[in-house]
Amino acid sequence: MIAGLLLTSLTGCASKPVAEEKTAPEVKKQIVIGFSMDTLKEERWQKDRDIFVAEAEKLGAKVLVQAANGDDSKQVEQAENLLAQGVDVLVVVPHNGKIAASIVESAHAENVPVLAYDRLVDGDVDYYISFDNEKVGELQADYVTKKLGITKGNFVYIGGAPTDNNALLFRAGAVKVLKSFPDIKIVYDQYSKDWQPSEAQKHMENALTATNNDVVAVIAANDGTAGGASAALAEQKLNIPLTGQDAEIAACQRIVEGTQSMTVFKPIQIIAENAAKIAVDMANGSEIKTTSTVKNSVKEVPSILLSPVVVDKDNMKEVIVDTGFHSEEDVYRNV
Ligand code: BGC
Repeated sequence: MIAGLLLTSLTGCASKPVAEEKTAPEVKKQIVIGFSMDTLKEERWQKDRDIFVAEAEKLGAKVLVQAANGDDSKQVEQAENLLAQGVDVLVVVPHNGKIAASIVESAHAENVPVLAYDRLVDGDVDYYISFDNEKVGELQADYVTKKLGITKGNFVYIGGAPTDNNALLFRAGAVKVLKSFPDIKIVYDQYSKDWQPSEAQKHMENALTATNNDVVAVIAANDGTAGGASAALAEQKLNIPLTGQDAEIAACQRIVEGTQSMTVFKPIQIIAENAAKIAVDMANGSEIKTTSTVKNSVKEVPSILLSPVVVDKDNMKEVIVDTGFHSEEDVYRNV
């Protein structure tokens, strides 16, 4: 053993080329991350961007951010542009998971790896970081059925954008729970183009008209769609259980005021900081530790899925205010 060590150090010494000692230390090139985002419209995406950029900069990387405003060809063009600027890794929140597959192809043609952020890309994407999205839907339906005890009657499902894989998963999780109650009837079930609150409001109005206001609960996929649904319910002077997601400030206010029952909080700090670390590791070619895989139509994508948290008026202070997600003053402004 000792002889072996000696031998290694000796040979190490002997074989060290003299010239190497004179070589100037290699200057490490700064990593550049391209962050291609669908939109900054919903409140959460601005937090995602800000936390991601701050963490990446802390790690010595530079981030170029582009947001496509819900326009697929613009997102593809912006991603091409980021690649042309020589980014080392691309992080993508796709508007349309299928169309974004072409972004991955272009990136791979330049040997640039791609991380799908929050929403899955339906292509040969290298890694995926998100929350357990089917669980989000389950938590929403569980809350209304198990926590509030509404286990029969007409339910309305107001979904998100059909082009967003997450919207399909949220719906799948919620519908699975609702279907386990034989006396629950889903009387209206629609996606909302581009997650638009105005679309959600129209859906809710249609559902109320079609049922003559005979609706006992509404599962809205996120806080934006819940906002639309809540406006339609208010027009009819109805206040029935209503879910949401994202812990947007307007939703937190509705919860403490009593016009929305709950939201599903997904800690943006955790996804954004982890994504920044992973992006830097990907750029460095380091090993990425994943916890699961998520299947798209091309492969099992190595993934990290974080846990969503139910928030209602009882734990609002603890989960949202005490963690600094929103201030107490903002949340309780109208009560
Ligand atoms: C996200 C939600 C968000 C929605 C609309 C989904 O993909 O997971 O958090 O509310 O997009 O932007």
